[in-house]
Amino acid sequence: MTINTKVEEAGFAPASRISTIGVSEILKIGARAQAMKRDGKPVIILGAGEPDFDTPDHVKQAACDAIRSGKTKYTALDGTPELKQAIRDKFARENGVSYELDEITVATGAKQILFNAMMATLNRGDEVIIPTPYWTSYSDIVEIAEGKPVLIACDAQAGFRLKAEQLEAAITPKTRWVMLNSPSNPSGAAYSAGDYRPLLDVLLKHPHVWLLVDDMYEHIVYDDFQFVTPAALEPVLKSRTLTVNGVSKAYAMTGWRIGYAGGPRDLIKAMAVVQSQATSCPSSISQAASVAALNGPQEFLKERTESFQRRRDLVVSALNAIEGLDCRTPEGAFYTFSGCAGMLGKMTPGGKRIETDTDFCAYLLDDAHAAVVPGSAFGLSPFFRISYATSEAELREALTRIAKACAALR
Ligand code: PMP
Repeated sequence: MTINTKVEEAGFAPASRISTIGVSEILKIGARAQAMKRDGKPVIILGAGEPDFDTPDHVKQAACDAIRSGKTKYTALDGTPELKQAIRDKFARENGVSYELDEITVATGAKQILFNAMMATLNRGDEVIIPTPYWTSYSDIVEIAEGKPVLIACDAQAGFRLKAEQLEAAITPKTRWVMLNSPSNPSGAAYSAGDYRPLLDVLLKHPHVWLLVDDMYEHIVYDDFQFVTPAALEPVLKSRTLTVNGVSKAYAMTGWRIGYAGGPRDLIKAMAVVQSQATSCPSSISQAASVAALNGPQEFLKERTESFQRRRDLVVSALNAIEGLDCRTPEGAFYTFSGCAGMLGKMTPGGKRIETDTDFCAYLLDDAHAAVVPGSAFGLSPFFRISYATSEAELREALTRIAKACAALR
């Protein structure tokens, strides 16, 4: 038998487009934590970016009904008319924003919405302003689309929010987009109407800059925080704003892979071109389930958010009780992003010096068997992210271990 040695000799070289993009730090830590678990170590994973609740029964039922009634074929390219209508109603009902059906697009997760938007709009070297800490996929998607992420540090003192002066200073003739995420993964920080206003005023002065807002965690906000989306605040800007959302976090549907967006018709059309050559359409069954999620009962969202708020309070107070950690109280999402500057320079009982937040997180995994993600993975150090989308019992146990491990540092 002859073997095609030519291919083997040639080896594999990835396209330059993805050469700077690695597997995310979050996935790497997750894989290590899982391997430790398999070896019998009692690891508690505080890294997951998904609710620990189940998808509601009426949503599951809608999916079963869709399968039985033959909704098992390709659908319209960027969303069924039923789902687009449900999204349109959602934007009107919850956000006070009106979109026509052809100003709405549906994709395989909000991640694909971002991907479609960047692929459809960026030319090589176009700049995208991304405040840090940011959800890691933002910069990676921009880079795959051959754009240039322009990262702007927004520290804890600024509430992890971008300031108008910072935005103004970052805008150049090459700026295509600004990406804002409220409430934020990883910081949990959210923009109120008052926080948004000065930023929107800057954008009004620069008509070539478009705004992408990621509202994925809209429903998970605490202490009577009033969620608001820029398209509702500034009608002039609506014509160059893409409002991104999805069912993953609100309805505990991360595996169903449905995200959506509202935006100007021409942009939505261009995004559909990308999608048509990537996936043809989102899953027909998941789209039917998403109609049930958006049109169905919403009361359970409040109960779930109350449960998240109890866990947030538990985690924030436990972290702030540890000397050397400093945790701002987040307005939303299910993450804390805690400063760990006080731990740098200390020695572990095993004789290793903690130089960075990555070292600190590695120490917590090895010693406390608690898997958390360093700020470096989100573009801001020295911090670490805890996802508290896990049971209160596990959170208490993990925080007790973290406190003990911190106390053992010298
Ligand atoms: N935006 C943010 C801020 C996220 O945290 C996530 C998921 N981690 C997404 C978008 C993507 O969500 P999905 O693709 O599941 O809709």
